[in-house]
Amino acid sequence: MQVSGEAVRRWYADLAWLPAGGVRPGVLIEAAGERFASVTPDVRPGDLPPGLVRLPGLTLPGLANAHSHAFHRALRGAAQAGQGTFWTWRERMYDVAARLEPDSYLALARAVYAEMALAGITCVGEFHYLHHAAGGARYTDPNQLGRSLIEAAAQAGLRITLLDTCYLSGGLATGGAPEPLAGTQLRFGDGDSGRWAERVHALGADPHGMLGPHARLGVAIHSVRAVPPGSIHPVIAVSHAYGAPLHVHLSEQIAENQACLAAHGVTPTQLLDRVGALGPRTTVVHATHVTGADVDVLGGSRTTVCLCPTTEADLADGIGPARALASAGSPLSLGSDSHAVIDLLEEARRVELGERLISGQRGSFSAGALARAATVAGHACLGWPEAGEIAPGALADLVTVALDTPRLAGASSATALESVIFAGTAADIRSVVISGRDVVREGQHLRVDVPAELAAAIGPLLGS
Ligand SMILES: [Zn+2]
Repeated sequence: MQVSGEAVRRWYADLAWLPAGGVRPGVLIEAAGERFASVTPDVRPGDLPPGLVRLPGLTLPGLANAHSHAFHRALRGAAQAGQGTFWTWRERMYDVAARLEPDSYLALARAVYAEMALAGITCVGEFHYLHHAAGGARYTDPNQLGRSLIEAAAQAGLRITLLDTCYLSGGLATGGAPEPLAGTQLRFGDGDSGRWAERVHALGADPHGMLGPHARLGVAIHSVRAVPPGSIHPVIAVSHAYGAPLHVHLSEQIAENQACLAAHGVTPTQLLDRVGALGPRTTVVHATHVTGADVDVLGGSRTTVCLCPTTEADLADGIGPARALASAGSPLSLGSDSHAVIDLLEEARRVELGERLISGQRGSFSAGALARAATVAGHACLGWPEAGEIAPGALADLVTVALDTPRLAGASSATALESVIFAGTAADIRSVVISGRDVVREGQHLRVDVPAELAAAIGPLLGS
């Protein structure tokens, strides 16, 4: 059916989580092209028009994975053997990075993004710092790896914000001098932030930061370890030029705070504030080890905080002050970061469960607040404020969670969102629609054989 040249599709959700009304029964949803045209709850099954698709279970808006490093997926399991620290894990991660080339990175990222689609993720924020060939040599197109990631997202059917990351130094030496990049890190660096900005402009984004119908430009400061304060301004300038989101790793490790205090006499949060890097367009990732004063600065500037609880647990980082940050004014979003697992429902519940373990109290975050972090707040921090809600005018993304699985059978409609957030997993997601198009049906990706492609892509990277 065509209306004004745009395909019209209709769905009937047995239950859907709507922004204004919570979970509602019998929701008739209509899309024209890539956007929702109308959303009508409380429609009786006998009153339905013909030609619609029924969605049994609980239907959510698209989930946003606001922090990803696609190639870290290769380390799943392999990095769990033995003990070690964040810093020994980082050495293993560098070994994988050293082996990636444009074709192998495209194959891996396509499979990883398709795994995300199976988990209900409709948009990924790719924090991209592996820019160059071995030793830092430029590819013929210096943006070849970034373009591989954009293509991978297109093939997997989801949207991407390519957070092109400035990474200039290997750390802070005692006394504050930046350490030069070495080894695999040479692939991350552009020399200085002016040359980083030239390469990012060459990606060819339009004035609104769009890199294609499914892709938009974002920028990132890897961390205060990797970008000296005097080099931060060009990154902020590119963010302003395109209205592009600005992301930065912040205080994931106590060692980062200690090095920053020794070098600059302030915390990483204070340093970013001093150079004008915080604000509503900025997202800090982790914020695990922040002071009370840092929390006030982040919240007061309306900086989003992206929490990555499974990675923070996996790397023994710690548990950040999620409730304090949200109360201070920071929107919260979620990311699977190192992809120890890819399951936004687990990331969401761990925010509340971590808070319970620390505070000895339940109920700091409702299921609705956690669902907003996974949906509308995540999309907003990636520069897609038009996504993440089932509402007229929004991008037509639908994620349907089956309620007849072993984990969720017996869920009542009154507490279906609580059941899904606190007990659901990625394996319970049955269908995914992105921009009005089917990407996952009956738990299967329509274009990618995800297990086969993951195995084929990861084996050579681990030397097996
Ligand atoms: Zn990260």
